[in-house]
Amino acid sequence: MAEMKSTSVSDMTSLARALSSSGSHERDQNDEFHSQTNFGRGSVPHLGRKRKLMGCGNAVHSCEEVCVLVINTGGTIGMTLKDGVLEPEPNAFVKNLKKLIMFHDEDYAQKTKLYDYYDFPESTLVLPMCKDNKRIVYTILDYNPLLDSSNMTPKDWGTIGKDIEKYYEKYDGFVVLHGTDTMAYTSSALSFMCEHQGKPVILTGSQVPIYEMRNDGRGNLMGALMIAGQFYIPEVCLYFNNKLYRGNRSTKVDSGRFHAFCSPNLGPLADVEVDIKINWDTVWRPNTTERFRVRPEVNRNVGLLRLFPGITTQTVIAFLQSPLEGAVLETYGSGNAPDNRPDLLAELKKATDRGVIIMNCTQCLRGTVNPTYATGKVLMDAGLIPGRDMTPEAALCKLSYVLARTELSLEDKKKMMKQNLRGEMSADLAGAKLSMSDSRFIQVIANTLSISCKEELEAIRDALTPPLACAASKIGDIDALKAIREMGSDLSLVDYDGRSPLHVAACEGHLEVVKYLLGQGASVHARDRFGNTPLRNAMHFRHKEVVRLLRRTGAHLSTDERKEAGTDLYSLAASGDLVGLEMWMLAGVDPSTPGYDSQTAISLAKATENLEMMKLLSQIPEFE
Ligand code: ASP
Repeated sequence: MAEMKSTSVSDMTSLARALSSSGSHERDQNDEFHSQTNFGRGSVPHLGRKRKLMGCGNAVHSCEEVCVLVINTGGTIGMTLKDGVLEPEPNAFVKNLKKLIMFHDEDYAQKTKLYDYYDFPESTLVLPMCKDNKRIVYTILDYNPLLDSSNMTPKDWGTIGKDIEKYYEKYDGFVVLHGTDTMAYTSSALSFMCEHQGKPVILTGSQVPIYEMRNDGRGNLMGALMIAGQFYIPEVCLYFNNKLYRGNRSTKVDSGRFHAFCSPNLGPLADVEVDIKINWDTVWRPNTTERFRVRPEVNRNVGLLRLFPGITTQTVIAFLQSPLEGAVLETYGSGNAPDNRPDLLAELKKATDRGVIIMNCTQCLRGTVNPTYATGKVLMDAGLIPGRDMTPEAALCKLSYVLARTELSLEDKKKMMKQNLRGEMSADLAGAKLSMSDSRFIQVIANTLSISCKEELEAIRDALTPPLACAASKIGDIDALKAIREMGSDLSLVDYDGRSPLHVAACEGHLEVVKYLLGQGASVHARDRFGNTPLRNAMHFRHKEVVRLLRRTGAHLSTDERKEAGTDLYSLAASGDLVGLEMWMLAGVDPSTPGYDSQTAISLAKATENLEMMKLLSQIPEFE
């Protein structure tokens, strides 16, 4: 290793101040949180640029650099022991990290003139080469003061959000170092504040300071950097003890183990073992063409109330009083509360009537809120919104984000609270089988795809209806067809082969389904891409009753089909296929129609003295 540069954060701060054209943006002493560095303002940072390094000396091969911004807000990871208690140590993190070879390759930095290339060299470090020939260059933005996360407030969430927005285009990913105590709140809050996110934001920290001999900080920081620098996971995540979780699904579950967090209702987004395995199916995507933005505003008139046996009405009244605008009621089991407490329920109802949004979340670590019990239904009746499987942390932060949208009406805010905005809750699967007989099927798909507006929902519905309706027709499931119809879908829509549900039902001979579809306006004249009508399909599969019904409804063969029918009739007659002949008769074909060599079925029946066939061919078929 070449000589290591040992610089302090105060050096970086001076540089940042010098670079800043308008001086410091530190706030006054009463501000809870100060973003100490001010780089970027009035300067043109080169951070986030990818250098293609060619021929930089034997030890350094051509490689690509990706840039990660590490926002250090504090927490145990950077704390030191002072007078027997752990406290954040200012101006120490960068200096100490530079001494750890797994966190900084000074040799590479010198040989590639890294410090000349990037702004803010004192706070920029580079990891050793990753497997895929990449270098993760990361810059640490130390906050001042560094905080124990128990001291953090919603204002601090906004500060972090604003810094992510400020440097969004300069970095490929973001890591936020944070205390574990309130990390689940901050990651939830940031997930809502960050709209149309396309880059990873990963919160991490540790249970033991990174400077101690045996600690979890190094592994956590390394994992977070590796993921933020290598994978475009467009979410606010929380990385801890080899697992990457969705930020708004996580909760702190242990204060004494390295496995401090869990995501009770959603599997991890990544497992970091010998390889980093990203569970791409679980990764949430923004489904948007809009630019990234941060809404740092929060409404602080929100609260959490945990129900317990014997809770007094006075407690509930005190909790719900103005200026409270939103509350999370932590209920029992699947969202239950005593239904023998009219006093309590009346207070909840009064609050929702005057516009307080109250979310019903379960006290259980795992599971969802659903109206299985009478004790759960009473809360719905009192105007509470089921929070499904949202964590209380996520529900609270969602409330403060939604309630800060002062331009929205109360109804719109309630609607947003019910929507799955950032993957914070699972689709409403309560009691639903994922089957076509469930009218919520498409809703569930829409929820999973994060579809919220009416037009998008209709587009999805229309795209999915034909194959679903055809599949329901195939199995003769009228209830499923009814459910699809109830969603406002047109049962005459055709699939990729131009086939309507009526075609399919006609093929299968499902008489009742055919009746139902005809009653819903399905067209007997629709032709699929092979030119076939439902009538031709029913004839082909010899469903006599369906052919009759279709004929009664006005189905008929075209003039050309009738003309060309002679050849088919003749060959059916030649093979003595009475049922086949009957289909054509029912379809309205004249049995004396000649085939390609002018022979007719009737002449053949006569020549072979087939009386039964002669009788059939001489009858006028009945449809009734
Ligand atoms: N009290 C610390 C904090 O949340 C605990 C930790 O970081 O693990 O900041």
